[in-house]
Amino acid sequence: VDSALIVRAWVEEADSALAGAWSQSALSALAARGVPDSVLGTAGWLVRSDAASTWARWFFESLADLARYVHDDDLTMASLYGQVRSGLAEVYPNAPDDEVRELARTVATSAWRDVQHRRRAQRHRLTPQQREELWFREEPDPRCYLCGYRFGEHAKGRYLRRLSRDEPVRLPYVVDFVRPRGRHGRDLDAEVDHVRPVAGGGSSGNENLRLACGWCNRAKSRYSELYDAAAWSPGTFLHPELGRVSLPQPLWVIRVVGVRGRCEWTSGCTAVLATHELFVAARQPAGALNPLNAAVYCGDHDPWAAVRFVGPSLLG
Ligand SMILES: [Zn+2]
Ligand SMILES: [Zn+2]
Repeated sequence: VDSALIVRAWVEEADSALAGAWSQSALSALAARGVPDSVLGTAGWLVRSDAASTWARWFFESLADLARYVHDDDLTMASLYGQVRSGLAEVYPNAPDDEVRELARTVATSAWRDVQHRRRAQRHRLTPQQREELWFREEPDPRCYLCGYRFGEHAKGRYLRRLSRDEPVRLPYVVDFVRPRGRHGRDLDAEVDHVRPVAGGGSSGNENLRLACGWCNRAKSRYSELYDAAAWSPGTFLHPELGRVSLPQPLWVIRVVGVRGRCEWTSGCTAVLATHELFVAARQPAGALNPLNAAVYCGDHDPWAAVRFVGPSLLG
């Protein structure tokens, strides 16, 4: 466990970096110190790995602009490998040739897979049969893979195109203020989501496709990574019991639920996304719901069960 002294020194450094957000010296000093584990708490692995995978993508793209390969079918893996290899030779001028070659092969293989997926996805349209397969794969309990929401008959009818799109949707009287699904008809729909986005190299095969509720799908498409999200909440609202509350970024909510995928009740609980809808509540009740303070609970263990659902008009 970090000492309070170490954390205090880090907070001071972070404070001067925030104050000097455009000053190289303030930023380098903060970067050099590294983030104490206790600051990130139980979400450390999630926020660190999201940052690292963004950096990996930037690294690949800095060696070869993959968009060029996606849009030009004449460009081959050999030319991608060649570009990556000469780029790496400049980054590591003193490295032995065979090491650079192996690294280039690893990077180019991974980047080439992305290119191929993006090329195919550009042409691919989901067939009605593929849509049906995705639904019936989840029967008898089709749920959003990101939040565990169970799709109703109405969503099924709309998804399978048995109901007209113009059929009015009955919106719920109350919504979860953390994840206000149900303010718009589309929120309740079942939609097809690419687990790994097409733009990030995800394929359009069934293994990369899941059913997601409209709310989660929209929240997920807003940003591809936590790292891209603004570091502040988008707004606040006045909760009748809890008082003034910061509303979390939708992406934070689905990222935490979708990745943990199970109830975190301390005494142990078996509820998982495949069988239960899961909710997000603050770990520290006095704290705001940001990624470091978000915990996942099933309906039975939700500490906010009595206060979670509010009239949608309260949210503005
Ligand atoms: Zn959902
Ligand atoms: Zn539980």
